[in-house]
Amino acid sequence: MKVVIIGGDAAGMSAAMEIVRNNKAAHVVVLEKGEVYSYGQCGLPYVINGKVPHPEDLIARDVEEFRSKYGIDARIFHEVTAVDTKLQKVSGIDVNSKEPFEFIYDKLLIATGASPTMPKIENAHLKGIHTVKTIPQMNELMEQLPNVKHVTVIGGGYIGLEVVETVRERGLDVRLIQRGSTLMSILDTQLTDIIYEEAVKNGVEVLLNEDTVGYEGTEFVEAVRTNSGVHKTDLVIVATGVRPNTQFAQGFAKLENGALIVNEKMETSIANVYAAGDCASHFNRVNQKDDYLPLGTTANKQGRIAGLNIAGFNQKFRGIVGTSILKFFDLHIGMTGLNNEAADRLNALVEAYVMEVNDIASYYPNVQPMKLRMLVEQQSRKLVGLQIVGKHGVDKRIDVFATALYNEMTFEELLDLDLAYAPPFSGVWDGIMQAPKRYGKKE
Ligand SMILES: Cc1cc2nc3c(=O)[nH]c(=O)nc-3n(C[C@H](O)[C@H](O)[C@H](O)COP(=O)(O)OP(=O)(O)OC[C@H]3O[C@@H](n4cnc5c(N)ncnc54)[C@H](O)[C@@H]3O)c2cc1C
Repeated sequence: MKVVIIGGDAAGMSAAMEIVRNNKAAHVVVLEKGEVYSYGQCGLPYVINGKVPHPEDLIARDVEEFRSKYGIDARIFHEVTAVDTKLQKVSGIDVNSKEPFEFIYDKLLIATGASPTMPKIENAHLKGIHTVKTIPQMNELMEQLPNVKHVTVIGGGYIGLEVVETVRERGLDVRLIQRGSTLMSILDTQLTDIIYEEAVKNGVEVLLNEDTVGYEGTEFVEAVRTNSGVHKTDLVIVATGVRPNTQFAQGFAKLENGALIVNEKMETSIANVYAAGDCASHFNRVNQKDDYLPLGTTANKQGRIAGLNIAGFNQKFRGIVGTSILKFFDLHIGMTGLNNEAADRLNALVEAYVMEVNDIASYYPNVQPMKLRMLVEQQSRKLVGLQIVGKHGVDKRIDVFATALYNEMTFEELLDLDLAYAPPFSGVWDGIMQAPKRYGKKE
């Protein structure tokens, strides 16, 4: 069986490993347009503040290991430009030699991820304007940072915030420009003020409601122009979102943003073609829709399922509930399920509980507050979502709630959970039990 995988990172190589482990008759070719395989993109921001000493430390397995140890025909600099789904053939170009190539497949996996969006604005070609996505990009950024005193980050989502923190920890001045009126706009507004205050407390200049319209400079960027003014800077990092890399895949069913729609087996709308990771849709168990939440956890899981199915098994991806977490200076910010805006699109009335709870017993040293917002379906009492911002203990609450959400538990059933308790770890009624204890329905 000839298997072709496009993309040599999280989803692609999770699949490749399952195929070579489970189907000795498979010949696996991986076509990767870059030269680095299997690296932890999530760790890239921490190269900036030195917590990860070198970008290369993020590589889990290099291309040689895939070739020699696992017998995978792992190509580098092979960019796929077209898929002929009738002839079952992919074609493309070697980005170094410019030589064309073609591969016939019995099974194809598209695992091409997503690329950062770069606003097409005036002078976007200037040097010193970066995105944080690949190891070569990070090497280029790290080469320029020693000559820089001031950095502007465009985009106040999770990658923008992680980069702001690490640039600041490097001792540089930072300005954060956000088009909307809040940072982390995926969170409901009751929680976003805390994030803004944390940025300001840490010396970040935050500009809200400013739309970047162009850059100024001759060779290197010298200023960012927004609808409100011109802001001098030495370097720009753009983190304004991502777009799935699926332009070459014509004739497939796609979401509005271009992500390939997959079923629970990771099959696309075309026979013998699978997709996984940031280039694919992610079935959301909470709203029962094909959603798009590009995260490393999901890419690895979907890749594994695609690989097992290509190898001959019948595995199902059970869906996401939309769980993520990030650190921003002293804050931990966690979310799972739907936010207000997404919940508004449910065919059901949703109640919101906003509370401040303690992370540990109120009498124990260093107790810290956490602010949480819990959404619950009014009629069915089913959990819909949780967002928490605090300094400690957010990860535990988010993961417990995510497990409850995955299992379609109700608000009142949160009280039945047998959670670990001792004063240094939580209150006797854990933070996520406070809302159902106070406001839950009693039979
Ligand atoms: C800075 C940063 C921080 C992050 N932090 C987190 C985090 O904390 N938690 C979390 O869960 N997720 C995080 N993520 C997201 C996570 O890294 C991605 O969801 C994950 O890498 C997606 O894996 P993938 O294999 O689908 O795509 P990718 O990792 O993007 O891999 C796709 C590969 O396909 C190749 N490719 C693309 N087009 C072609 C083509 N035409 N031909 C050949 N090859 C092609 C690309 O070069 C790339 O190597 C972060 C991402 C970034 C950038």
